Amino acid sequence: MWWQVKRIIYIPFDHLHPKFGALKTAEPKNDLIVLVESARMVQKDEWNKVRLYFLISSARHFVQELTALGFTVRYEKAATTVAGLEKIKSEFPKLPIICAHPSSHLQAEQLAKFGVSFVENDLFLTPRNLFISWADNQKSFLMENFYRGQRSRLGVLVEGGKPVGGKWNFDKENRLPPPKNYKYPPYLKHKTDEIDNEVALELGITPSDTWGTTRKAAKAQLKNFIDHHFKNFGPYEDAMTGENWALHHSLLSPYLNNGLLHPSEVLAAALNAYKKGTVDIASAEGFIRQIIGWREYVNGMYWYLGADYKKGNHLNANRKLLPLFTDPGKTKMNCVKTTVKDIKVRAWVHHIPRLMILSNLALITGTNPQEFLNWMRREFIDATDWVMVPNVIGMGLHADNGKMMSKPYAAGGAYISRMSTYCKGCAYDPKLRAGDNACPFTTLYWDFLDRHKKEFVKNHRMSQQINGIKRLSDLPQLKERAVEVLSGLDKGLI
Ligand SMILES: Cc1cc2nc3c(=O)[nH]c(=O)nc-3n(C[C@H](O)[C@H](O)[C@H](O)COP(=O)(O)OP(=O)(O)OC[C@H]3O[C@@H](n4cnc5c(N)ncnc54)[C@H](O)[C@@H]3O)c2cc1C
Ligand code: SF4
Repeated sequence: MWWQVKRIIYIPFDHLHPKFGALKTAEPKNDLIVLVESARMVQKDEWNKVRLYFLISSARHFVQELTALGFTVRYEKAATTVAGLEKIKSEFPKLPIICAHPSSHLQAEQLAKFGVSFVENDLFLTPRNLFISWADNQKSFLMENFYRGQRSRLGVLVEGGKPVGGKWNFDKENRLPPPKNYKYPPYLKHKTDEIDNEVALELGITPSDTWGTTRKAAKAQLKNFIDHHFKNFGPYEDAMTGENWALHHSLLSPYLNNGLLHPSEVLAAALNAYKKGTVDIASAEGFIRQIIGWREYVNGMYWYLGADYKKGNHLNANRKLLPLFTDPGKTKMNCVKTTVKDIKVRAWVHHIPRLMILSNLALITGTNPQEFLNWMRREFIDATDWVMVPNVIGMGLHADNGKMMSKPYAAGGAYISRMSTYCKGCAYDPKLRAGDNACPFTTLYWDFLDRHKKEFVKNHRMSQQINGIKRLSDLPQLKERAVEVLSGLDKGLI
């Protein structure tokens, strides 16, 4: 009964797991659970509606799940999170409000100011203190070093202190282009229910069957990945094709990031499949590296590098967001058009289009990192501050002066042509760097290297690329074309 309640537990929309975070010690008789749907999040037109649909419907389903477990749950709709908590506080002025440490610097600051006390955020596999002590002892923050430490610490794919299969990393085996004449397994479609329909109606969209909104659906997505995709995850991890929008990617990031799945559950399922012999070591290692390596590393770096990290703009990039990101209909660049259109439909594309098409384009056009970051945050289903900031500022745009990645991920059309099917249907030619039909990626790649050659020549991992500029007989024509391309992109004509 409410008069017996001893604590208020605030659950942000990305802590939706009944056994982790602040709910770990929750008792139906002692705790009042509170979720707040902030109008600031819902009412602005700028967010991708599929993203909002997933986050809101998952939260509303979670209320149902907790209620079935016997908890008293309040789902407040308020102007902001703090306004929602103020309302609860006015009803229960003497009760403490607790929450697992939030997943952004801003929310942590706002909640702390309001008087919320934090318990450890164990929705990751690595306690934040442990990451800090690792980072404090590094000269450079190489993910690979962190990942090997994780393998040993967690006892994953390690035997007698040595990596299973004789190598820590099977990346070289995992770089195949899209397969030809290939039969992809069907996509898993999630059934929608009344809550989904209600949320979709409020947002003015049709409910998405791509994304489930319950823990049961998240587990089904995990099983679907393990049974039908894990085996071929590794080889085609970097491939992009117009024939299949997901290839063998797991589609688990939304559930991992909103709490419907805990990384330990994904890891256990992957290890179990490997032990049963249904996947080889290259796919097993490749996928597990994403879960215990990249994901944990990115979260650790977010907290380690501090709140100001997201303001980085080391390359002094000040171009406004290109119109093709918001209106892809007009661009003739087939790879960009397909990718941005896919994002509008599902709020998701896999890692390589994010890195080698979207971020690459922002990087080589000199787009302002914060403008691009804000666009990515608005569009992606799995975007939250802790994960988007390091991936965009550090990995994608090299705006952090190489704190995370030792070199920028800049590439011309040749990479996209090798790893995708997009160039065949494109108005441009990936092999050309000058002239009207030159691929904008190819032209701007060289232009970018030339613009920043003084900076990059100091980086031994870039010296080969920088030396390549000297071999370009058509550099003047290329520079001329680069001016045209940049101006055309600014005007939405390319
Ligand atoms: C510019 C850029 C922005 C990105 N923004 C996000 C984001 O907002 N949210 C997000 O979850 N991921 C982000 N990523 C990482 C990665 O692209 C997505 O995690 C992945 O595409 C999600 O699809 P999936 O679940 O099918 O992943 P899979 O390819 O199946 O990989 C499995 C899991 O590994 C984890 N993972 C892999 N790489 C990363 C990484 N670099 N950072 C964090 N986790 C990783 C994810 O949890 C993912 O679900 C970004 C990458 C780039 C280059
Ligand atoms: S030619 Fe260039 S712009 Fe066209 S699809 Fe290929 S990489 Fe993209």
